[in-house]
Amino acid sequence: MSNPYLPKIASIQKVKPETYDTTTFTLQLDDPTERKAFQYRPGQFVELSVFGAGEAPFCISSSGHGRDTFDLSVRKVGRVTDALHEMGEGGQVGVRGPLGNSFPFEEVEGKHILFVGGGIGLFPLRPQIQDVYRERDRFASITVLYGARTAEDLVYRDELEEWQQQEGMTCLLTVDVGAEGWTGNVGVVGTLLQKVEIDVPNAVAFVCGPPIMIRFVVQDLSGMGFGEEAIVTTLERHMRCGIGKCNHCMIGDKWVCKDGPVFTYRQMKAMTEFEE
Ligand SMILES: Cc1cc2nc3c(=O)[nH]c(=O)nc-3n(C[C@H](O)[C@H](O)[C@H](O)COP(=O)(O)OP(=O)(O)OC[C@H]3O[C@@H](n4cnc5c(N)ncnc54)[C@H](O)[C@@H]3O)c2cc1C
Repeated sequence: MSNPYLPKIASIQKVKPETYDTTTFTLQLDDPTERKAFQYRPGQFVELSVFGAGEAPFCISSSGHGRDTFDLSVRKVGRVTDALHEMGEGGQVGVRGPLGNSFPFEEVEGKHILFVGGGIGLFPLRPQIQDVYRERDRFASITVLYGARTAEDLVYRDELEEWQQQEGMTCLLTVDVGAEGWTGNVGVVGTLLQKVEIDVPNAVAFVCGPPIMIRFVVQDLSGMGFGEEAIVTTLERHMRCGIGKCNHCMIGDKWVCKDGPVFTYRQMKAMTEFEE
């Protein structure tokens, strides 16, 4: 395991536009020894430096299984992300990480696994979906519910199609606002919960999306009988150091960067900023 706090140089191997404002960048650490030592788990993130622009946190959006590259899927919103979107294959960036905790995996073995993603909330869920699917014999069932504002905002379109066709996985999509050509469900992602049968006492839900979406989906899941420990999410907060020193990302007595970003609903409730 390499020292996650030391910045390392990585090169962009591939640039894949996802939507009009999001792109998946496939990165590889330049140093082969560091590359081998860069082991991470779904839910973890890196601090990415774009030289001359700054540093920002991004979750690792690909499973680390069997590859020595990793994906960051990024929405263009400001200084660092604008500069990154100007870069192409071969461009060099700095990476600190992997940082933070990760989604439970062994702990949820044997359970029905439900993923609920909204918008770019699918980024942190994707490596967990990939890992759970790869080891699907260890889980009772896999369901992915994903919603975006419009069809143009759906990320990972090729993969969504694969997930919809894959045996052993249920994947339902929705958009908030329908348009010509969209024949799927229209409505917020929570409406998809009514369309699937879930053995709630033996299920765990991984939820990620904008705060308002998380709030409503958590309410829906609680109403269905999901326990507070059976709802897991990742939180985004303005973050600087990524290692629990600067306190930018503190909520109550927790650092999102160090204690999270993955939290159960029980933990989120205990954090003073989160109101039901
Ligand atoms: C753990 C974690 C994982 C993340 N994963 C991803 C990911 O996978 N993909 C992704 O696209 N994004 C992700 N983000 C969000 C990303 O880090 C931010 O969008 C980051 O600010 C982008 O940097 P920037 O320099 O491009 O934008 P900035 O220039 O920082 O601006 C981004 C937006 O935030 C506002 N802003 C900036 N600083 C503050 C502040 N202190 N208070 C209030 N508003 C402020 C700006 O006005 C602007 O609207 C993640 C964040 C965290 C904490």
